[in-house]
This record gives sequence, structure tokens and C-alpha cells, in this order.
Amino acid sequence: MKPQDDASHYVPAHKVPQIDATSSVARFFAVLQDARAGGALVLLPDSKSRYVSGRALGTAVLARAKTDGTDAASELSIHTYLRALEQEVPVTATNLHQQSEISALALGENAPYEVHRVLEDGCVTGLLFTHESLRDSVLTNPPVWICADGDENDQYDSGYCSYCPEPLDRMKTP
Ligand SMILES: [Zn+2]
Repeated sequence: MKPQDDASHYVPAHKVPQIDATSSVARFFAVLQDARAGGALVLLPDSKSRYVSGRALGTAVLARAKTDGTDAASELSIHTYLRALEQEVPVTATNLHQQSEISALALGENAPYEVHRVLEDGCVTGLLFTHESLRDSVLTNPPVWICADGDENDQYDSGYCSYCPEPLDRMKTP
């Protein structure tokens, strides 16, 4: 079976946004909003990349805001949060060039949590997720942020509500 035909594990490349790890967390969530995606590939300086879901990064940001304050938490780069995210789903994206590599891949409940870039003629055509739940995390809507007063915000921005002075202290994920 070609990976493109595996609808429960494959996502076409154009549906998965990419963002540099040096970008702010506010930018990460803005990119998810623009793409209506629940996760993104984070590009690291060593030309590696990691798949990060909005739910995982959002949880880390809110936890940091509780200890260090909203201002500090919202100004940090995605890269700063990656260590905290290693306890979540540490997904390094690797390249698959050959049909044989793709066929040999373990998929399903007992497989390790992995993301693989599928290349055809040198171009990335899509991503293959070893777990359906990981695949689903891309295809869900980005988080909605809720302030201490209960207002819902599409963007994380500076970590404060757009409608009142309260910080965003909760997250709603589909
Ligand atoms: Zn508010």
C-alpha cells in the first residue's frame, strides 16, 4: 500500500504547517490558526524537525505562566519549551525515501510515537504518523484560549485576553 492511501496515518504536506524553533509561542499558535491545524512541524537549527501539537505546547506554556508569570511565558521561544515537551510526545520527523522503508514501518497501537516525512523525487509529499491519535492531532482545530473572566480568544498573543485585562489561563482543545 502506498502511504498516501493510508488515510488513518497519512496527512498531505500542505495540511501540516511548519515553523522555525526560534519563533515565539505566540507565532506558533498564530500559524496554527492560519492553517486551521492542531499541530506543526518545528524546524530546529540542526536541520532536524519535531512534530509538536498545539495541545502539548499549550499545556507547557500555561504551566510556565503559572510559575513564572504570563509575560515571561509568552515571550519564550518554541525552542525553550521543547525540553518540557519531551515528556509529552517527543516526535522527531525523519525522511523516508524508499517504498521499502515505508513498508517496513511499524504502525498502530504498539508502534513507537513517530512522524516520518514521505519523499517522492526529493519532494516532501506528506507525513506518515505511526499512531492514529498523532495524525488526528494535526487535523483538529487549534486551541481556544480562555481568560480568567471566561472570554474565549483565538490567539495566544501576549498571553492576555483581547477583551479584558485578564491573563489567558485555560485552553480548550477539541
Ligand atoms: Zn477576558
